[in-house]
Parts: sequence; C-alpha cells; structure tokens
Amino acid sequence: MPTEIRCYVCNSPAQEKFIAAEAGEPISGITCPRCGEYRIFDKEPLDNIEAKGRAQRLFFSSWLREQGGILVSAELVDKTIPITPPTVHEKAVRLLRWFTSKHPAGHHFKVPGEDQINNIVRWQFEESNVEIDPSGVGWILELLGECWINDGFEYYMVFNDYAVEEMKWFFQVKDQTYRIGPIGFIQIEKERSHPDLEEMIFIAMWMNPKMNRAYNTFANAVMDAGYKPLRVDTGHPEGTIDDAIISGIRHAKGIVADFTRRRGGVYFEAGFALGLTRLVIYTCKDAKADRDELHFDVEHRPFIFWKDTNPGRLALKRKITERIEAHLGKGHQSFTETERNGYLLPEE
Ligand SMILES: [Zn+2]
Repeated sequence: MPTEIRCYVCNSPAQEKFIAAEAGEPISGITCPRCGEYRIFDKEPLDNIEAKGRAQRLFFSSWLREQGGILVSAELVDKTIPITPPTVHEKAVRLLRWFTSKHPAGHHFKVPGEDQINNIVRWQFEESNVEIDPSGVGWILELLGECWINDGFEYYMVFNDYAVEEMKWFFQVKDQTYRIGPIGFIQIEKERSHPDLEEMIFIAMWMNPKMNRAYNTFANAVMDAGYKPLRVDTGHPEGTIDDAIISGIRHAKGIVADFTRRRGGVYFEAGFALGLTRLVIYTCKDAKADRDELHFDVEHRPFIFWKDTNPGRLALKRKITERIEAHLGKGHQSFTETERNGYLLPEE
C-alpha cells in the first residue's frame, strides 16, 4: 500500500511505496504529480536538496520528470545541480505541446491563472493556509513540472506574454478559456520536422579512452547515414552538463545516447533531447553489469544492445545507420577519407 508523503524533491503531496531491497537496503518508488516517478534508497531522503535553493530544486523536479524513473541519491543531486533550464521559447513550446496532447484539435480548454499558480506553489511549500483540494491541482503541478515553470509570474510571462501575445499560438475564447490557433499548429509541425536544424547527430556517452572504438562505431554509423557526428568534450568533470552540451543537443537533429556504465550525464542529455522532440537512439553495451544498471524507465525504450567485438560493432553501426535513415531520412553530408578520419578517435 502506498503511503501519503511530501515529495522529497518538490514537497508536493506524493505517494511512496516499497519496491525492492538492494544489498539489504530498501528502495522505494515515489510518484509525484510534479516530478513524475523516481526511486530512492530509504536511508537517503535527499536531506541536502533544500540547501540548493527553491529555483534549483524545482529545476531538478522538471529534470527528474524528463528522466522518468531514475534512482536519486544525494550524489546525483550534487552532480546534476546547478541545472541550466530551457529558454523561454522552449518552455513555451513545451506548454504548447502539453495542451495539444491533452485536448483534441479545435477544442476549448481552461488554463490556470497566475494567482492560482502562485497559491498552489505556496501551498506546495506549506507557506500559506490557503485550502486547496489536492485532487484538483495534480494536472497543474504536472504542467509546471513538464514545462519547467517555477511560479505564477514566470507562467504569465511564458504563456500570456510569449505564447499568446507575441507568438499567437493560443487564442483566448473568454476568461481562462483558450484554444490553439493555426500558428500554434504550424509551430507543432515545425517542432516535429526541425527543417532548420543542422544535419548533425550528437553523441552522448561515457568519455573514456576505453570507449574510443565504440565512439568510432557511432561516428561512422552517423556519417554513413549522411550526418555529421558531434562530440562535446568539455574538460568539465564527468557527469556535469554545461552550455556546450546544451547548445550541441539543441542544434542537432538527433542524439545517440549510450548508457554503458550508466553515466548520469547521458540520462540528462537523452531526456533533454527527448524534451526537444529530437530523435533519441538508445544504446548500451550487452554486458550483464550494464544491462542490470539501466533504470526501469529507459528499459522500456527501444534499446540497441551491442557486443564489444568486431562483428558486434559492425552490427551496431548498421542498426544505428538504419534507425537514423528510417526516422530522419538520408542526410546530405558526404565525407572524404581524410574528413572522415578527422571525426574519429585513436583506437588502442
Ligand atoms: Zn516532486
């Protein structure tokens, strides 16, 4: 039976239930309207997250939501924060996608108001005596989490100022009732095809000389499909996300996300790319330790598992090329032998 709790990350009313024991320690699963689902060790209830400040705590909530079901430890919090949130435009696109997914085309729907959101956030952090029925606000917390919006003031700017007034994606029917207009639908189409993006595929993986062969396989597969491979080696500590990575993913049409050794950064990069509706190709080395470590949500994605042998890497290369071509079409980039080698790393 789930227990009613306050979410350890965002303090919303949430549910906790025992899932399994690992190495003698119980693991529980949290279901939160804002953060989605995540798991924690019983003994690590994120004591240090409050010290990160309200804004980062809420960014982490949205980030968690995009990861879908990962195991959260104090270490993950320290590695992930500070988080660079999406831009106003990207938040507005998320809002547009959210409403489009919830309501059939042409239908009218209610949107929350600025004051309503501010009251909910105060209630969420137990700062006011406002009586709020939790069953009625779950969808608003979900929207805030999904769109990386922290309070009513920000919501007003993203929704009213940007998405309604400036972009004309939404039309007001009356009061808090809106519908999506033609420009909104054009924007949704644009988000799906990304004609303005470069023919480039971002490669997210464990950056270690041991992985050079695997990297070269990914890069060759990408070039075979007619796209440029993009690798960002920032020199920052492993697992931290910086602007070069964010910008790389933003400009690429897709991403190869390799989960070998379960790098925290790869979860972020795949989640971020998914949030931008980019093609995400999930791969992982076919080794027991690596497969066992995959978090339950990514387990359900269409993974390509690869063996670290010559035939195994050849099969991997072919599958990635096929998947890119199937989803994005054949790219127009061609490479001379020298250009191709310029994208590859030395193999041991
Ligand atoms: Zn939460």
